[in-house]
Amino acid sequence: MEYNFKVIEEKWQKKWLEDKAYSVNEDNSKPKYYCLEMFPYPSGKLHMGHVRNYSIGDVVARFKSMQGYNVLHPMGWDSFGLPAENAAIAHGIHPDIWTTENIAEMGHQLRRLGLAYDWDREVATCKADYYKWTQAIFTKFHEKGLVYKKNAPVNWCPSCETVLANEQVVNGACERCDSTVNKKNLSQWYFKITDYAERLLQDIEKLDGWPDKVKLMQKNWIGKSIGAEINFKIDDSDKNLTVFTTRPDTIFGATFMVLAPEHPYVDELVAGTEYEKAVKEFQDKLQHLSEIERTATDVEKEGLFIGRYCVNPLNGELIPIYIANYVLMDYGTGAIMAVPAHDDRDFEFAKKYDIKVVPVVDPKDENIDINNLTSAFVAEGEMINSGEFNGLNNIEANTKIIDKVSEMGIGEKTVNYRLRDWLISRQRYWGTPIPVVTCDDCGEVCINEADLPVLLPTDVEFTGKGQSPLTTSESFKYAPCPKCGKKSHREMDTMDTFVDSSWYFLRYTDARNEKTMFDKQKAEYWMDVDQYIGGVEHAILHLLYARFFTKVLYDMELSPVDEPFKNLLTQGMVLKDGSKMSKSKGNVVSPDEIIKKYGADTARLFVLFAAPPERDLEWSDSGVEGSYRFLKRVWRLVDELMPYRKSGDYKVNSDDDKSLVFELNRAIKKITEDVGERFNFNTAISAIMELVNEAYKYKENAKDNLNGELINALLDHLVIVLAPFAPHFSEELWEMMGNKTSVHKVEWPSYDEKALIKQEVEIVLQINGKVKDKVFVPTSADKSEIESLALENEKIKALTDGKNIVKVIVIPSKLVNIVVK
Ligand SMILES: [Zn+2]
Ligand SMILES: [Zn+2]
Repeated sequence: MEYNFKVIEEKWQKKWLEDKAYSVNEDNSKPKYYCLEMFPYPSGKLHMGHVRNYSIGDVVARFKSMQGYNVLHPMGWDSFGLPAENAAIAHGIHPDIWTTENIAEMGHQLRRLGLAYDWDREVATCKADYYKWTQAIFTKFHEKGLVYKKNAPVNWCPSCETVLANEQVVNGACERCDSTVNKKNLSQWYFKITDYAERLLQDIEKLDGWPDKVKLMQKNWIGKSIGAEINFKIDDSDKNLTVFTTRPDTIFGATFMVLAPEHPYVDELVAGTEYEKAVKEFQDKLQHLSEIERTATDVEKEGLFIGRYCVNPLNGELIPIYIANYVLMDYGTGAIMAVPAHDDRDFEFAKKYDIKVVPVVDPKDENIDINNLTSAFVAEGEMINSGEFNGLNNIEANTKIIDKVSEMGIGEKTVNYRLRDWLISRQRYWGTPIPVVTCDDCGEVCINEADLPVLLPTDVEFTGKGQSPLTTSESFKYAPCPKCGKKSHREMDTMDTFVDSSWYFLRYTDARNEKTMFDKQKAEYWMDVDQYIGGVEHAILHLLYARFFTKVLYDMELSPVDEPFKNLLTQGMVLKDGSKMSKSKGNVVSPDEIIKKYGADTARLFVLFAAPPERDLEWSDSGVEGSYRFLKRVWRLVDELMPYRKSGDYKVNSDDDKSLVFELNRAIKKITEDVGERFNFNTAISAIMELVNEAYKYKENAKDNLNGELINALLDHLVIVLAPFAPHFSEELWEMMGNKTSVHKVEWPSYDEKALIKQEVEIVLQINGKVKDKVFVPTSADKSEIESLALENEKIKALTDGKNIVKVIVIPSKLVNIVVK
C-alpha cells in the first residue's frame, strides 16, 4: 500500500474533530499539564512562523498526554486590532465580518495541520462573550484604584484628521498620506502598572523555567535604579532644579546640567533672552520624535546651552544648563547632572560641545589615563577631586554623599523605575469598549458588572477621518448614568489589544462560563501554564502585562496563582535565504502549498527537524523533500515487516536480535529525554531515523531468521514514538496494524535499562602473539568469560583446529593471546 497523505490526513482530522479527541475536563486522578502557544491575530493567512510555533506546542501536548498527563491545549484568537479597521476603510467590509471570515479561514488551516486542540475552549477576544469579561476586569481595576485618566499626547495626522497608532507613524510621517505627524493632547486612560513594579521585578526570581535573556529584558524594562534626588540652586533665580541621579558619588564631576526640552522651567529660564528662539526651534524639532527614537543608543546626542547656570551645592561651582534630546521628561525628574568622566552619554555630549571633563573616580589602573579619558570610566575606583570624600572607595562615598545632601536638606535617597504606567486608551473602533460614562453630576462612572457587556455599536462609518469611527455612532453616544440614571456621555475610547491578551490563558480554563470570567476551582486545577510557547518579540510587553494582570487578579482572590507561566520557550524565526520570510523580500513559503504537496505530517516533521526550537530555522526545499522521503521509508518498512509480526513477549535469539533490542531501547531513551527534558525535537527525530536504519539493517541481516515477537515490539514502538511528530501518519499505521484505539491515547513506552548495558570493549585476539581478529566483549565479563568468548570465535576456532592450546593469556579490555603448538 502506498503512503497517501491526502486521504489519511483528511480522514483523521475529521475523526479527531468528531470524536472531540482532544477535549478535556478536570480530572483529579491525573496530573494536569497546560500547554499553551501564544494565540494568533487572525490576519487570514497562516505563515510558517505559526506552523513552527504550533507544531512545537503540539509535540509537547501529545507527548505529555501519552505520558499520562491530563493535557489542556487550547487555541483562540487575539482578534481586535488595527488591520480589521483598515480593511473596513479600504474595502468597506465591516471589521466584524472581516475578522470572522479570517478566523474561519485560519481555523481551517490549523485543523489542516492536525493540531491537538480542545476546540470547545476556543475564544475570540472580539466576541462579546469574551470582552464582557475584559470590561469586568477593567471595572474591578477601577474599583481598586488601578485605573486613572490623564492628558497624554497622541499622534495626530492633520491631513487625515485622525489619531494614528505608533505603528502607523513612519519616520515621523503618516503611513497613509506621508504628512508630518503632530502631537495632540487628549485625556486618556491608564493602568497603574507602576504600583506593581517592585513585585514584577522581584518575582522574576521565581521564573526558573524562563530563558535568561527574557528575564533580563523584563528586568531592564522595569529598570529599577536606586539613587538620589538632589536640588541644585539656579543662579540668579530663587528656583531649585531637582535632578535624579544614580551616581551621587560623582557630584563633584558634574560639569553641566541637562534638562528635557519639555521641562517646565525651560521656557521661563530663556524668556526674553537671546537663547529663546533657538530653544523654541529645538523643542519643535523633537516634538515629532518618539521616546525610542530619542533615546536609542545609536542616535546622535544633540542639545544646546540655554544661557543659565546652576550652583553645585557641595563645592559652589557654577554649572552651565543645557537642553538635550537624550533626557526625557517622564524619567526621574526630567533633569540630570551630567558627569562626562563617568557616564557614556554625557561623555559623548561633552566631547561634541567641548564641555570640560572632570574625573572624580580614579580606577588606579596604569592603562587608564584618568586626566585624558577617551571614553567614560564607569567602574569602581577611588574618589579624587571630591573634597572631604577623597580617598574613599566610590561605593562608600555614594552613601556618604547621600547622607550629606540629606543633612543639608537638599536631597534624599530615591528609587526610580523606568517602567511607566500603561496607556490603554485607543481612539479606535475595533477594540473592547471602555465601560465608562461621564455624568454631569457624578463624573466618571463605571457600568455595573451586571449590565456588561457594553456592546460595540454597528451603526458606524469608516472614513479614516475624525477622532474615532466610534464617534460616528448615534446609538452609542449616550447611556444612563449607573449612579443617578441621568443621560450621560459614553466613553469613546477602546482598549489597547494588549489588555485582551493579558488574561486569555485564564479564560481557557473555563471558556464557556457565562456567569463569571472563569470558575476559580477550574482555574485552580489548570493554572499555571506549564509550558508557554511564542515569539521572542513578545518577551517584554505581552509577558509583563500578563504577569501584571495575574498578580492583580491574584490579589483580588480571583486568580489562583500570582505568576501565569511556569516555563517559557521562545522559538526562533523561520528564515529563507538567510532572512525572515516576508512579502517585501519575496521569500515567503506558504504552508498551504507545502501541505498540498507533501502533507501536514511532512511539514511538521521538517520544521521540528530542521533546528532546535529556540534557534532560527533556515527553510530548505530539499529538507522538506527529505522529511517526506523519510515518512515514505517508514511506511514501507512497516508495510514490509507487518506480515512477520507475532504477538507475545520477545526473546533474544541472535546477535541480530540483541543489537536491534539495544537500538530500540536506546532510541526510546533518547527520544524520551530529548522531548521531555530538553525539547530537542531535532535530535529526537534523528534518533527515530537511526532506529529506522537499524530496522532495515536487521531485516537484511536476519532475513532468514526474523524474530516475529521482536518485530511486533519494534513496529509498535516506532509508530508510537513518531506519533507526536507525525500524528496522522502514525494513527493510520497504528490502525493498519490492527489496533482499535488511537495511538495518541497509548502510554508512552519505557525502555529497558538492562538492554542498554552494551558497554562493550574491543579486544584483540592473537595466536602466538600475532593479531588474528578483533571482537567486542562486555566490559563486565571476567577473565574466564573472555577466554571462552575468544575460543568460540569462528576464526580462532579454524586456526587452532587440531592444534594443542598450551596457554591462554587474558589481559582484560586489551587482548587474548592463545599460545599453540
Ligand atoms: Zn495622514
Ligand atoms: Zn450620575
